[in-house]
Amino acid sequence: AAKADGGRYRTYADDLDDAAGEEARLGADLRAGLDRGEFHLVYQPIVELPNGAVSAVESLVRWTHPERGNVPPDVFIPVAERNGLIVELGEWILRTACLQYADWWRQGIAPERFGVNVSARQLAEPAFPHIVAAILAETGIHPTRLVVEVTETAVFGGGAEVRTVQELNDLGISIALDDFGTGHSSLGLLQTLPVQVLKVDKSFVENVTMAGRHAVIATSLIQVANGLGLVAVAEGVETAEQAAELYRLGYRRAQGYHFGRPVPGSAHRSSSSTVTAA
Ligand code: C2E
Ligand code: CA
Ligand code: CA
Ligand code: CA
Repeated sequence: AAKADGGRYRTYADDLDDAAGEEARLGADLRAGLDRGEFHLVYQPIVELPNGAVSAVESLVRWTHPERGNVPPDVFIPVAERNGLIVELGEWILRTACLQYADWWRQGIAPERFGVNVSARQLAEPAFPHIVAAILAETGIHPTRLVVEVTETAVFGGGAEVRTVQELNDLGISIALDDFGTGHSSLGLLQTLPVQVLKVDKSFVENVTMAGRHAVIATSLIQVANGLGLVAVAEGVETAEQAAELYRLGYRRAQGYHFGRPVPGSAHRSSSSTVTAA
C-alpha cells in the first residue's frame, strides 16, 4: 500500500528500489562477514529408527551479523547464490565441516557419515569435484564419509550440475536428494541422477500420524526408496508419535528436533554407532 514519504506517495517502483538496495546491502554484508569470520556451522544428528543411534550428522551454516543478529540461511543463502559469493562461502563451509569431522575422528567420536549442503551455483562450477577432492585429501577424510546434499531444483536443469553430481559420485561421495518430493520432477530425477539417499521433506512428515494425503505420500516415498535400494531419511521429525509412525511405514533413518537440534561441533559428544580411528 502506498504511504506518505517525504511529501510524496511511495510507488511500487520505490518498493522495488528498496528491495534491490537491501539485496545489495545484504550481499555486501555477506562479503564482509566472510572476511570477519561471522559464520559458523552447527550439526544436527541423523539417527537410526527405532533405537536413535546417531548414524550421521548434517552441517548447517549460521551467520551472526553484528547489527542484524542471526540471519537465517533461508534468507542469506539465496542472496549468496545470486551474487556468486556462495562459491567461496560454500568452500569455507565444506572445509570447516571436513576439519570438524577429522577432529571427531581423532577423538574417536565421529559418526559414520557427515552431510554438507551444496547449492546449484557450486555444482555449476566445473572445478567443484576437484575442489572437494582436494579438501578431503587435505583433511585426510575418505570420500565415502561425505554425503553431498543437493536439492531437486539444483539439478533440475540437467546439464553441468548433473555432470558434477556424477563426478562427485565417481569419487566415492554419496549423494542425497534434499527436500525430496517438493520439486518439479522428483521421480524423474531418480532415473538420471546417481543418488543414494532420499531426504523426505518435512512437509510430508508433519501430518504423517493423521490419515490423509501427507501420510499417503510418506508411504509411497518409502516404497520408492526401498524399491530402488536407496536410504530414506525422514526430515523434521518433532514428536515420538511421528517417529513411531514413520518406523511403522518402513523408515529406518530420521532427523528432527525430537532427536536433536543443530548444535556446535564442540557439543557433539559421541554416539552409539561411532567408528573408531583406524
Ligand atoms: P535443509 O537442508 O532442508 O535443512 C533442514 C532445515 O530444517 C534446517 O534449517 C534445520 O535446522 C531445520 N530442522 C531440523 N529439524 C527440524 C524439525 O524437527 N522441525 C523443523 N521445523 N525444522 C527442522 P536451517 O538450518 O534454518 O536451514 C534452512 C535451509 O538453508 C536448509 O534446508 C538449506 O537449504 C539451507 N542451508 C543451511 N545450511 C546450508 C549450507 O551450509 N549450505 C547451503 N548451500 N545451504 C544451506
Ligand atoms: Ca539439507
Ligand atoms: Ca531438507
Ligand atoms: Ca529445506
